[in-house]
Amino acid sequence: MQTAALTNTKGKFLKLDMRKIYRFVPVEYKAGEALPLGGDIYYECGDCNGIVNSVPHLPSACECGNMTGNKGAITIKKPEVVTPVRGKLK
Ligand SMILES: [Zn+2]
Repeated sequence: MQTAALTNTKGKFLKLDMRKIYRFVPVEYKAGEALPLGGDIYYECGDCNGIVNSVPHLPSACECGNMTGNKGAITIKKPEVVTPVRGKLK
């Protein structure tokens, strides 16, 4: 459980930093289709408003734990509440 707590804390910091650095714009996507992937694509969690990169190279998670990722792969428990967005540097 200690490891999970650590990951959540990191995800939180990452989220706060990213909102300061990036402007997020919605990506065209039809519900039910596979979510787009890419280094500039992020997923916004509809439950907690957290943002996680679609190709996370560092341990990251949204606050509610719907999305967890590490080493370039992401696991989403409820993809139906996730919105793909593109991150643009401000
Ligand atoms: Zn969440």
